[in-house]
Amino acid sequence: MPLPYTLLIDPLPADSPRTDFAGTFQAVDSDAPALRVAELSTQRGDGVFETLSVVNGHAQEVEPHLARLANSAQICDLPTPNAAQWRAAVDDALRHLPAEGQLALKFVLSRGVEHGPAPTAWLHATAAADFSGMRAHGVRVVTLDRGYPRGVAERAPWLLMGAKTLSYAVNMAALREAARRGADDALFLTTDGFVMEGPTSSVIIRTGREYVTPAPSGAILHGTTQQAVFEYLSSRGERVVYRDVPVDELRRADAAWLVSSVRLAVAITALDGEPLPADQPLTDDVNAFLLARTA
Ligand code: PLP
Repeated sequence: MPLPYTLLIDPLPADSPRTDFAGTFQAVDSDAPALRVAELSTQRGDGVFETLSVVNGHAQEVEPHLARLANSAQICDLPTPNAAQWRAAVDDALRHLPAEGQLALKFVLSRGVEHGPAPTAWLHATAAADFSGMRAHGVRVVTLDRGYPRGVAERAPWLLMGAKTLSYAVNMAALREAARRGADDALFLTTDGFVMEGPTSSVIIRTGREYVTPAPSGAILHGTTQQAVFEYLSSRGERVVYRDVPVDELRRADAAWLVSSVRLAVAITALDGEPLPADQPLTDDVNAFLLARTA
């Protein structure tokens, strides 16, 4: 089946007794119209999504992505996704997708059509961009103020911090700002100077033999790749820690990475124009581990 490959899903309630999901999704022509104009995903960015990586026919970290989709849905007061149905849709897609190479598989759960009876959902597979250059040479990063202090998620839950919503216009604007400043990527900071996450990635910092990532307190996503990297590092006897990271700690780090599902781990080689040491051998090891995952 040529790429892109798209499945429209008729989302079942989480407590549906149904176990055969074959009739609940349907492959559609990715180039043909498939959504209604009144779709709230397009009208308001009102929905949630996940993007996972498929490597040589293996969908990676399906369960952590489904768990985060459910968490995002809960934050947004959307119906809980039926995990068994989404797993079946992924399996169906895998049967039709190329068995070699890297793909990006996006799941979308939207609030649906205004006043409509049900949410809308789809799964969309595309060839992954070629990130081999960034994996080998790293990225220059600038820090950008996210405009909120630490603790904002608890004080203002309606900001939907910590949900992976479809409203990525701010994240994309941050990447354009990074490019204007001569960098490849960005890292958001709280107004009180703590490291959060990149617009499309989590951050891991190494100081000595300790690997640290900002605690997923509710204001940032709990990255599935960061969790996989921490498991890998722990299995090698390294110390991994979740805690608040002041930006000065990042500036003094022995190494730092942006990590995400499709691009995987890329070393931060410069921060706000100042060089940062990069550990390319470890970056290569981590990426070999991430690419070899079969689940
Ligand atoms: N933080 C944000 C804002 C993201 O958009 C992403 C991924 O797109 C991540 C973190 C990393 O998450 P994952 O490793 O699950 O891809």
